[in-house]
Amino acid sequence: MVKRGEVEFIDRLRHRVRLPASSGIVLGIGDDCAIFRPRDAVEDLLFTTDLLIEDVHFRRATHRPDDIGWKALARGLSDIAAMGGEPRFCLLSLALAPYCDRRWTDAFYRGLLRFGVPLAGGDVARAEKVTCDIVVAGAVPRREALRRDGAGVGDAIYVSGCLGGSALGLATRRGAAWKRHVHPEPRLKLGRVLREKLHATACMDISDGLSLDLHRLCKASGLAADISAPPIFPGATLEQALHGGEDYELLFTLPARTPVQRGLFRIGTMRNGRAGEVRLDGRPLPPLGYDHLR
Ligand SMILES: [Mg+2]
Repeated sequence: MVKRGEVEFIDRLRHRVRLPASSGIVLGIGDDCAIFRPRDAVEDLLFTTDLLIEDVHFRRATHRPDDIGWKALARGLSDIAAMGGEPRFCLLSLALAPYCDRRWTDAFYRGLLRFGVPLAGGDVARAEKVTCDIVVAGAVPRREALRRDGAGVGDAIYVSGCLGGSALGLATRRGAAWKRHVHPEPRLKLGRVLREKLHATACMDISDGLSLDLHRLCKASGLAADISAPPIFPGATLEQALHGGEDYELLFTLPARTPVQRGLFRIGTMRNGRAGEVRLDGRPLPPLGYDHLR
């Protein structure tokens, strides 16, 4: 059974929303960030928002408050990286659980502020469980944001690193894999390189698993994809690399003959076919990644 609850929900919502030209929104629901184009400005502005909820995304028993603060912002920064952008500021609304004392909140904000992205405002409330709602604003030269919908037939498909580490860390709570799970590193520098130097045709971050995220990129670009196994995080399984979420590496496409630097892994090729269809070594790969509405 293909888990497509979230994909369908977003599709339905997108069709209900109108974006008049006067809004300045040139890209709405369905990419890593929304793009706002101020009149006569040299930059487009990027906006992304994410929820991080206790017992959904993390547990009190296993996640330290500074890790939670780090991750709350890292997820948004990864979306800015996916567009080739540069973060400018963030806003945070935070619901604190009864157990969150001064030490907890100090550690949480220490984790969040470690990225050096200015916190420009937000809201605080009390609730049964910790809930973080973060907005990150970024910028990119006008019309140059990387999007999911630009891949062409024959483009090479790449990932920026080993996959499955976060899923392995969640399962074992140990070593480098656990670090990968609690301290993902948003690929901001690489996002810029992909935009400025390698001229990526499409890009997104891998937040919900390669199978589901590549399906989304293909769907947005109106194409299909053929891939072989991606590089696997040491100790992880192929299943974890294909379907495990929260690796926050970048998934992108380049014109076939673009020379690339070390550390980028070519996993396949874009092709004509039913939009969104992905084959692994010739066999259909269902989008089984993490579906938040399953
Ligand atoms: Mg994303």
